[in-house]
Amino acid sequence: MLPVLMVTGASRGIGAAVARLGAAAGYAVCVNYRRDRTAAERVVADIARAGGRAVALQADVSVEAEVVALFQAVDATLGPVDALVNNAGILAPQARVEAMDAARLERILAVNVTGSFLCAREAVRRMSTRHGGRGGAIVNLSSRAARLGAAGEYVDYAAAKAAVDTLTVGLAREVAAEGIRVNAVSPGVIYTDIHASGGEPGRVERVKESVPMKRGGQPEEVARAVLWLLSKEASYTTGTILDVSGGR
Ligand code: NAP
Repeated sequence: MLPVLMVTGASRGIGAAVARLGAAAGYAVCVNYRRDRTAAERVVADIARAGGRAVALQADVSVEAEVVALFQAVDATLGPVDALVNNAGILAPQARVEAMDAARLERILAVNVTGSFLCAREAVRRMSTRHGGRGGAIVNLSSRAARLGAAGEYVDYAAAKAAVDTLTVGLAREVAAEGIRVNAVSPGVIYTDIHASGGEPGRVERVKESVPMKRGGQPEEVARAVLWLLSKEASYTTGTILDVSGGR
């Protein structure tokens, strides 16, 4: 039986890169997506062509019943999860705080924070030795924005990612003696579609001069850090937030 990896929001961007690398590393992969089934099926087909095993499963991570059903579907198709990557995340169009309404704030927190908590909960229920599990690893996708604040762009998203950092530290301590490691990766500016949803598809090109390495990152450069944190190579690492940002 292959170890089982769940990657939320894996139809494109960093999640798709994690899914592909995870399959190459020997995991059976659940490629979760919310809307774009065709893109998720493409990731699954790439994995199958390379000799790996994957399934695409739809669920909105902010909806509790859908998260519960997602993990049950993985139990039934691949087996209980050994590894979870809380990657699904969203931005809203760039705005100042004074222009943000409650509906926007609720959606940003629901997907980025509640979604990460709900998926972590389902994973812990399966992985924890306290519940008869065999342990496991969780990696959360944070952002450099959590510490920089994203002024004038999306302070709401930055605050949500700060909550993801705190989830990482707190849950890591909570389950450290139950066979589960919990870490986060904190990317800087990475070439994906997320910047278009923030209203500025070319954002990486605009801000890359502020990166010490003077370039944006590729999704695979983030995925390699995620895979290391999931692996036995990181067996004594938990509660860590690893910057993958071309310098600080
Ligand atoms: P992306 O290209 O916009 O992809 C987002 C993925 O999440 C898509 O597969 C999308 O699926 C899925 N998704 C969105 N809402 C979802 C929901 N409610 N339930 C399930 N899936 C959902 O994003 P990305 O740039 O790869 O970002 C991945 C993670 O890295 C995010 O947490 C992001 O905050 C973080 N990050 C990114 C950067 C960057 O510069 N790119 C920097 C720092 C942190 P559908 O298309 O099917 O909706």
